[in-house]
Parts: sequence; structure tokens; C-alpha cells
Amino acid sequence: MKNSTLSQRDLSVLWHPCTQMHDHESFPLIPIKSAKGVWLEDFEGNRYLDAISSWWVNLFGHANPDINAALKAQLETLEHVIFAGFTHETAINLAEKLVDLTPAGLSRCFYADNGSSAVEVALKMSFHSWQNQGQTRKTKFITLENSYHGETLGALAVGDVALYKKTYAPLLMDVITVPSPDCYFREKNEAWADYSTRQFAHLDNTLQQYAGEICAVIIEPLVQCAGGMRMYDPIYLTLLRDACHKYNVHLIADEIAVGFGRTGTLFACEQASISPDFLCLSKGLTGGYLPLSAVLTTDAIYDAFYDNYANQKAFLHSHSYTGNALACRAALATLTIFETQHIVDANLLLAAKMTALSKRFIDHAHVSEVRQTGMILAIELVKDKRSRAPYPWQERRGLQVYQYALQKGVLLRPLGNVIYFMPPYVITHEELNVMFDIAWQAITSATQH
Ligand SMILES: *Cc1c(COP(=O)(O)O)cnc(C)c1O
Repeated sequence: MKNSTLSQRDLSVLWHPCTQMHDHESFPLIPIKSAKGVWLEDFEGNRYLDAISSWWVNLFGHANPDINAALKAQLETLEHVIFAGFTHETAINLAEKLVDLTPAGLSRCFYADNGSSAVEVALKMSFHSWQNQGQTRKTKFITLENSYHGETLGALAVGDVALYKKTYAPLLMDVITVPSPDCYFREKNEAWADYSTRQFAHLDNTLQQYAGEICAVIIEPLVQCAGGMRMYDPIYLTLLRDACHKYNVHLIADEIAVGFGRTGTLFACEQASISPDFLCLSKGLTGGYLPLSAVLTTDAIYDAFYDNYANQKAFLHSHSYTGNALACRAALATLTIFETQHIVDANLLLAAKMTALSKRFIDHAHVSEVRQTGMILAIELVKDKRSRAPYPWQERRGLQVYQYALQKGVLLRPLGNVIYFMPPYVITHEELNVMFDIAWQAITSATQH
């Protein structure tokens, strides 16, 4: 079978996510036949190094033997069962593990089936818990500029990436958006912590003014991923946690992208020693195998809903596939790998290797910044290094990088002019060499005209 046979069939019936389908008149769609470890293989034997973990979900490689075995065992016993009125051991095991591993105080686990749904759950729970406590004026959320929380309407409303949001603005609830601690904008020689601290004043002022109307602040801890892998200092989270306590507002930590070891700790919140009121998890949760998400929350939130049925305080939110047994089993197998193979420690070595390999990019004529938080490393391309003037988006330089790298067997998927690496944790040092080498060539090729 040839790649083109499948891509033709695909293009006559399918509609792909986050894609202008017209682009595929010029760029081929790549059908993948199989995958193993960090490598994807198409129908003509070409191999691609999955440098972005298949949209940030894959942690321990494709066709991971441990996760495969766990799933096969689960298939033989229970694939799925309704999760209202019924339960099963795998969902319980996973919830116990998550409560155990996540920051202190998070004692309840509510399942959903993708990241956006988890964000919807957290928003609704926060609002509803205030309602149940008679705080009916609390109806608004605070979010940061350039944040991303998913594509469903509630999640889109609390995000701030214009490319995805602008068109739908008339459909979205009002939110309060405050400037971000994003350290790309710090003064020359200003420390990340100083800039992030300085930027916190905006949020503090907003809370001071509007706290009585605010349900929660929602934030991506440490890295605004879809917003171009923009990063900030943990001090911002520490200040935010204190302020949320002070002003009686919930803190929703969206660790859908940064959770599970991406930032150098199992959860990003650990780097600020904070516990949010809601923690949203998905993406890496199942090692990239199956859709699943979880919202962890506190006894205080849970108690605000717990009452006689007649008092009408229950959280009546559901998804058909809540607590899916296969997905929960994949997640358990993933967490077992973290434990038995000491992944967070092992990642320190991989992250250090990434730092070393990225050094040469700093002086590139069209690179304004190389930044890194743990296993996420981003390279910002600009038209003019000194003024940091960006390339016009119409030039699609990132797409040129993508295409060049793909030809050479590396899957990068730049966010606009930001080239980033977010590889599976099973990548070897040799494979990291290949990844950075090809990226260098791709960037050089895409910026030389
Ligand atoms: C990907 C992502 C989401 C949405 O998750 P989906 O599973 O794609 O709906 C939400 N928040 C963050 C921070 C994300 O990166």
C-alpha cells in the first residue's frame, strides 16, 4: 500500500483537527502504519521521530510493552461500565494513586474524557460550589493573557489565543483577562522571578477590585503551552495561591499539558509548593493511549455539594465514558512506570542534554530566545534579532520548518514561529542529537531567504 492511496481515501471523507483542509492540496497527509518508541513509520517505510509526543500525550513511547500488557489484561476482564451507581476496581485504584501523588489537600477525583471537558468540570464545580454556599454574586473567572484551556465553549472562553478564540467571541461568556507573567517580555537582564513578581501586581489589583464576583482564577502552571511555550517563574504561583486564599477565590491549575513530569517535577505546582483547589489532568495521564481526564479537588469543595438530595446541591454533570476502564488501566500502567523507573530523576539528565544541545541556537541570527522548563524546550524565531520583530504570520516560517524537518525524518509541529521540543521520555541521547541537528538545519533553511 502506498501513502497516497490512503491519503486520497482520507481526504475524501475526513476532516482533520486544527487544519485548513485546503493546505492538503499542497502538503501531503502522512498515513502512519505503525509506531514503536519515539518512531512513527508510514506505509512507504519512512520513519519520523515524534519530537512532540503526538500532541504532548505520549510519555513512554508508542507500543509501550508495559502499557500494552496492562491493556490486554484489562480487556479480558472489563472494558467499560456505567459510572453512575456502579464502579470498578481500576477506577478506584487510579483515583487512590492520583490523590496520593498530587499536591496535598486534593482528596477527590472526578473523571471526564478529555482535557477540555476537565476544564468545563472545574469551571462548573467552582461556580456551583459558591452557589451552594449562597455566594450567588460569584459568576466570573479570571484568566491570563495568552492562556489556553481547550476548545469547547467554556474552555475557549477562559483561554486567550486569538487564533482559536476570535471567531467565536459572540458565543463566549465574559471573563476578566489580566497580563501574563510570560518572561519573554522581561527587561534585558531582568531575572524571571523579578519579572513574574512584577506582573503579579495586575492580578492582585484585579482580585482586590472584583473578588466578590470571582469564582476562580484559572492558570497553566509554569508554561503557557499552546500560547507558544511561553514560560514564567514559580514565584507567580506562590503569590497567586496566597492571593486566592486572601480574597476567597478558587485556584484552578490546568496541568493538562504540564503535568506528569513535563516541567521537571511530577506536577508543575510542586515547584511553587502550592495546592490548587482544582487540578485538571489529561494528555499524558494515559501515556498517550486513550482519552481520559481527571479533576482533583478538595474536601471543602466536595462538602459544598454533599447534602440530602432534596436540597438540590448535587453536581449533575456526566459524560458517557466517565471512568472508562481501559483508559484508567492505561493511566495506572503509566503511573507505575513513573514509580518503578524513577522517571522524574531520569528526566533531569534528558533535560540537561536538551539544554546542552540547544546552546548553538542562542546565537542564530533569527532566534530571539531559547527557553526551557524541564522537558519542554522552545526556540523563538524572529525576523530581526535585535528588535525582536516577528516574522509576519503570512510567511508561515514555522510551516517551512515543519516541512523541512519532516523530509528529514523528524516530526516538529511549530506553534507559529515557535519551534519546540516536547519528546517522549524514552528518547535516547542519540535520538536527541538527531532531533536537534535536523531542527538546526530546518531553522537555517527556513530563515535564510
Ligand atoms: C490540550 C490542552 C487542553 C485541552 O485538552 P483536550 O484534550 O485537547 O481537549 C486544555 N488545557 C491545556 C493547558 C492544554 O494544553
